[in-house]
Amino acid sequence: MTSEFVCGFVAVVGRPNVGKSTLINEILGSKVSIVSPKPQTTRHRILGVHTADDYQAVFIDTPGLHRDAGRAMNRLMNRTAAAALMDAEVILFVCEAHTWREEDDDVLKRLRNAKAPVIAVLNKVDQVAKKDRLLGTIAEMADRFDFAEIVPVSAKSGDNVPTLLKTLRGYLPVSPPLFPPEMLTDRSEAFQISELIREKLTLQLRDELPYGSTVQIEKSDRDADTGRRIIHAVIWVERDSQKGIVIGKGGSMLKSIGQSARREISRRLGEPVHLELWVKVKSNWANNEQDLQNLGYDRP
Ligand code: GDP
Ligand code: MG
Repeated sequence: MTSEFVCGFVAVVGRPNVGKSTLINEILGSKVSIVSPKPQTTRHRILGVHTADDYQAVFIDTPGLHRDAGRAMNRLMNRTAAAALMDAEVILFVCEAHTWREEDDDVLKRLRNAKAPVIAVLNKVDQVAKKDRLLGTIAEMADRFDFAEIVPVSAKSGDNVPTLLKTLRGYLPVSPPLFPPEMLTDRSEAFQISELIREKLTLQLRDELPYGSTVQIEKSDRDADTGRRIIHAVIWVERDSQKGIVIGKGGSMLKSIGQSARREISRRLGEPVHLELWVKVKSNWANNEQDLQNLGYDRP
């Protein structure tokens, strides 16, 4: 007996840093969404398409919902996450198996009016030393919300992710695939390259700085003589003082960011690339609607 093909949108929500992007990358077997231990790593709505023999799940990675909705970029990120909820047939609410925070409650509150079934994903079980604690945690979760399912996983090791997918499949509507099976994401190559650079920037810079910076690809073509791939990218910051920090002593910071970005971009594109990075100041870009749009922050 063959089962009918099912397909639908799956919104992945949760406070920053619980592992939403890591989970999607693990399911797709490819980094479509960048990952770091810092909040605001995911700023855009990114589709991750997972196609199997009898289903297609279209994951919508979302920026975590932010409490501080002061700046235009944070408001935009909150709107993006809220819009994803409206589009989804199933919602994956991701949290940490070992830590529950007030911010988790904030996200759950927003799910009260959602029509779609909500599956709770208790992530990072690899960090739970005593596995018998998990049963208690699952019971607590069931008290917090009327979840359709509660599934513990480790997005990092892939532990129990197949069970999550099998469970998720049961909630998708009968539908032909919406995207070609070989497609992994709706995002352009240039977008993915800019995000890989922003990931390295976020990983290497301390504290507040990553939040004031963004990356724009200015040029991506080939050297006429050598045929080698050349990419020019600008790191935009908000203030002159930040520019100095990104460049570092004698250019050391920029060099190190460029090296690790170039390595990963080359691996991704399957060919060596020449990457040139510039740092430029655009004062207050993250609080300016027009700048945001020009820098690729689309409205939901
Ligand atoms: P997001 O903000 O929810 O998208 O979270 P990310 O996917 O960017 O991950 C935040 C941090 O948690 C990163 O440092 C990840 O490596 C880490 N992380 C994600 N999933 C797991 C997991 O299953 N186990 C462990 N130990 N760390 C994880
Ligand atoms: Mg993320």
